[in-house]
Amino acid sequence: MTVALVGAGPGDPELITVRGLRLVRECEVLVVDRLVSAELVAEAHRATVVRRDPLGQEEVNELLVRHGLRGRRVVRLKGGDPFVFGRGWEEIEALDAAGVPWEVVPGVSNLVAAPGLAGIPLTHRGLSAEVTVVTGTSGGGAELDYDRLARTPGTLVVFMGLGRLPRIAAGLVAAGRPADEPAAVVSRASLPDQQVVTGTLATIAARAAVLPSPALVVVGAVVAVGLGAHPGLDDALRRHVEREPHPAALRHDEARHAVLARRDAA
Ligand code: SAH
Repeated sequence: MTVALVGAGPGDPELITVRGLRLVRECEVLVVDRLVSAELVAEAHRATVVRRDPLGQEEVNELLVRHGLRGRRVVRLKGGDPFVFGRGWEEIEALDAAGVPWEVVPGVSNLVAAPGLAGIPLTHRGLSAEVTVVTGTSGGGAELDYDRLARTPGTLVVFMGLGRLPRIAAGLVAAGRPADEPAAVVSRASLPDQQVVTGTLATIAARAAVLPSPALVVVGAVVAVGLGAHPGLDDALRRHVEREPHPAALRHDEARHAVLARRDAA
């Protein structure tokens, strides 16, 4: 393969795949997103490193095609997974059009990494058997389909939603989701300054207002399960999530100890 689209994972350099890391180490040209860790970039000791940031999508496509046509080993390293809100397919189309061979190395998407690292299960038997994934900031700036989202049971995950969270939470409630439904925001998952804030649809926007991006929004009863509330008791879940500071709001290690201490005490 000459051009590999590689998922870098959520940010912690240990959360890339073995294959992804090998390709990074072997590549001659590395094109990286802003959110990719410096440690991973440093693994590409043989490569010319190109920052994607100042470039437009067209320029990135041209760059990949140009180096690909020369037969260089190119890695296009993207945050999370290349095909989850990553514009990966746009780059593949450009490579295809130019006849450049490519491969995809999936990454640990924030879809699973952020809730997972925050101690929130995306699904939980008897409580959530569906996951809906949306972007809060669609390219055209269109509104989310709140009516449909309010009718869809299970867990709702919103990428790129922090900036518009007041509007999104209010839109969901106006369309019929309960104002006291548990919600969480996971900020900078897997990074040393990861923070998790919990609340309900009524309170989450105000509570998360101070959090830095990137951040993922999770809505649903699973948020309260992550806090140790009994999954069968709806009202108890909601009261619980308002009362408890989420353990992952602490630093990484402290959070793990807090969870263990809570289990031991139970
Ligand atoms: N391809 C990526 C998503 C890119 S879109 C993936 O699979 O994860 C960028 C959005 O991803 C951000 O707005 C945020 O919602 C989410 N995101 C990226 N890094 C994150 C992190 N470390 N913690 C929480 N959310 C993150």
